[in-house]
Amino acid sequence: MKVVVVGAGYAGAFAANRVAKKVKGAEVTVVNARPEFVERIRLHQQVAGTGAVATPLGAMLRPGIAVRIGSVEKIGDGTAVLDDGESLAFDHLFLAVGSTVRALPGTVPVGTWEGAQQARDELAALPGGSTVTVVGGGATGIETATEVAEARPDLRVRLVAPEAADCLSGAARRRALAALERLRVEVVADVVAEAAAGRVRLGSGRELESGLTLWGIVAGVPDLAARSGLEVDADGRVVVDGCLRSVTDPRIFAVGDCAGVVGARFGCQTAAPQARAAADALARLAEGREPEPYELRYAARCVSLGRKDAVAQFTHPDDSLKDSHLKGFTAVAFKRMVFTGTRYLTRKAVGA
Ligand SMILES: Cc1cc2nc3c(=O)[nH]c(=O)nc-3n(C[C@H](O)[C@H](O)[C@H](O)COP(=O)(O)OP(=O)(O)OC[C@H]3O[C@@H](n4cnc5c(N)ncnc54)[C@H](O)[C@@H]3O)c2cc1C
Repeated sequence: MKVVVVGAGYAGAFAANRVAKKVKGAEVTVVNARPEFVERIRLHQQVAGTGAVATPLGAMLRPGIAVRIGSVEKIGDGTAVLDDGESLAFDHLFLAVGSTVRALPGTVPVGTWEGAQQARDELAALPGGSTVTVVGGGATGIETATEVAEARPDLRVRLVAPEAADCLSGAARRRALAALERLRVEVVADVVAEAAAGRVRLGSGRELESGLTLWGIVAGVPDLAARSGLEVDADGRVVVDGCLRSVTDPRIFAVGDCAGVVGARFGCQTAAPQARAAADALARLAEGREPEPYELRYAARCVSLGRKDAVAQFTHPDDSLKDSHLKGFTAVAFKRMVFTGTRYLTRKAVGA
């Protein structure tokens, strides 16, 4: 059985390893845009220069899995067409192309590898005393603003968002806001309407000086599924059945950020469980058994606040927030466990 996995982030790498392990006789080929596995949840560290987040793909994938570096341009009837024109035939395909950014012109996105590399270079070249504006008050914006503020105390860091840290609530949210204040990040309750060299214009019309403007919002998914004629939801994610198969072509599984699971938000927290569920569904189908449905479950929202602080607020399985949370050193350790644990589970294709 030929299995092609498109994308080798958390979902794709896990799915490839799990299929190679569980589906007898599967020939697995992974197609990824670059030769490294990028720990996307640590891209803010890449930006601030506080950590390396790329690992050669070979170290993340089981022996025997073939790797093609390139971009899949179109998925047809049992074929995936690469940007070099070659077609890969498949019996089953796992679509795991993740999510993307829609950055305002004049800003540098931190949510993609290419953007994070550019941000890192521009930040390193920024003279002391300059102002860095981070757009977005969700986890990506807060992690970026605090990481940069801690790593570069010689810069002025500003966070622009209608409501900073609104992914958290109660005492956990207050903790995140206090960390921004402690790291002298100026929080501006507004939106950035326009960005150009050296300045930003806010929604209120105010103009502010900005030596570098970082776009800290992840939104949208690559249009590969839509372009290939698969049914997608309003956000462009693949519409799937209970076992994560495309409702247009059941040979295709969608996992991770690009899967249109109702109630799911972007997160590595759901990428591995979806990859596991889809790979196990294929293993059961290959044995002539009924696949088991995937069940969406959340556990926590964890936001790092520089290298020495973090906050992790627990959630109910439906992602609604509980009051309980971890803070300080315990939350830092928890977040580190998320990084290292996710990498380990992805490589071993276990747990999740
Ligand atoms: C700074 C930051 C912090 C975050 N923190 C957290 C967190 O604490 N907790 C959490 O749960 N989530 C967090 N997230 C979100 C999390 O990173 C994503 O939800 C997760 O990476 C999704 O995994 P994925 O495998 O679906 O996609 P990705 O990890 O984005 O991987 C997709 C892969 O597909 C490749 N690809 C795309 N298109 C093609 C193509 N056409 N052909 C071939 N390859 C292609 C890409 O190059 C990439 O390698 C964070 C995100 C950011 C940016």
